Amino acid sequence: MTGSAVRLENYEDIVGPDVIDELYVLAEKVRHRRFQHINSTPVGGGVAEILTRLVPLLRELGVQTAWDVIKGDSAFFNVTKAFHNALHGKPEEISEGMLEIYRANQEENLRDFHFTGDVIMVHDPQPAGLIAKKAEIGRQWIWRCHIDVSAPDPRVWEFLKPCIEQYDLSVFSMPDFAQRLTIPQVMVAPSIDPLSDKNRELLEGQVWRVLEKYGIDPERPVLTQISRFDRLKDPLGVIQAYRIVKKRYPAQLVLAGGGAPDDPEGAEVLAEVREAAAADSDIKVLELPPFSDLEINALVRGSTIVFQKSIREGFGLTVSEALWKRKPVIGGAVGGIKLQIVNGVTGFLVHSPEGAANRALQLLGDKRLRQEMGEAGHLHVKQNFLLTRHVKDYMLLLLALEYPDQDIVQV
Ligand code: UDP
Repeated sequence: MTGSAVRLENYEDIVGPDVIDELYVLAEKVRHRRFQHINSTPVGGGVAEILTRLVPLLRELGVQTAWDVIKGDSAFFNVTKAFHNALHGKPEEISEGMLEIYRANQEENLRDFHFTGDVIMVHDPQPAGLIAKKAEIGRQWIWRCHIDVSAPDPRVWEFLKPCIEQYDLSVFSMPDFAQRLTIPQVMVAPSIDPLSDKNRELLEGQVWRVLEKYGIDPERPVLTQISRFDRLKDPLGVIQAYRIVKKRYPAQLVLAGGGAPDDPEGAEVLAEVREAAAADSDIKVLELPPFSDLEINALVRGSTIVFQKSIREGFGLTVSEALWKRKPVIGGAVGGIKLQIVNGVTGFLVHSPEGAANRALQLLGDKRLRQEMGEAGHLHVKQNFLLTRHVKDYMLLLLALEYPDQDIVQV
């Protein structure tokens, strides 16, 4: 798995030369270690989005980094999607047969997989069972959890926990997510790449062309949510909020998203969304193919307000993506959205469709507030959620793993 080429120097204008120098100093210390990432999909969703940008940047720094994806059929991904929902605390029926499907997939992947890393970072529950290989090959293993597992379904958590505790280290996106574990836990927030097609600056004409392509009127307010069609992203709640707003403003709603090979529920949720939107031509439901990054970039830049009205959320990269583009974001007060939306400063945290609608009405009536929040949001992302910070954190992890018994490592 590889992403497009990136040059580290290009980030200098955004983050300053000191940050780049520091990355080179750290890279020198960890270059001799091979760093392998393993997840369950090459495209779709936040983990693939991050790895697509992070892996090339680490390589550019000379850190030997690989990214591999486990195999899985639809039966397996049905099980892991149920696990995903259950770990987020959503009630799910988990049968013994499902656990068996997970174990069988794990056995199959263990047979075929090439473990090339000295340090192996396994992302999320789908490939977590690969840790069984540690007894045979050793190496250092990190479980990188992108999910909010603070209130998991106990059956799934108890099933996974013994496997997770075989790892040398776990990484969570924020302290709220962590669980009581016998292994060390490290907090690393995800990130966005300011130079990717998803986030880089666009010309006004590029934005307009995309709005025009989808029949969106730039003269009227545009409310947007970019998300996989997933119930936990609450697209129907967004439509409810939009309907309230529509009574006062001639707003349009864009719900844009695609699927992910490891998310089998997408088609069903998309059908529900299309049905709810059918009677209103101002609701644009856009099913985007993978790698629609420039179009997504343009859709967000052409929006007045961005929603991420999730009911449960890991991090929610879409929030930082919108804040970076100076858009006020209205988001569900859950998971990593709470790290990104400083309530009343970079956007608003809400608990219901009505709350989302009220905040949207407030923002639509106050251009200055939108601009102030946009600036604050951009700065917040710049200080906390850019790729360069993420790369630094991972290199620090590699370094720390080399000195497991030391509290302080001199660089
Ligand atoms: N995304 C995309 N196309 C889509 C829907 C989403 O490229 O049709 C991207 C989105 O811009 C973001 C990522 O996929 O970068 C989703 O990450 P997030 O953390 O918001 O949610 P997840 O899907 O991982 O739950």
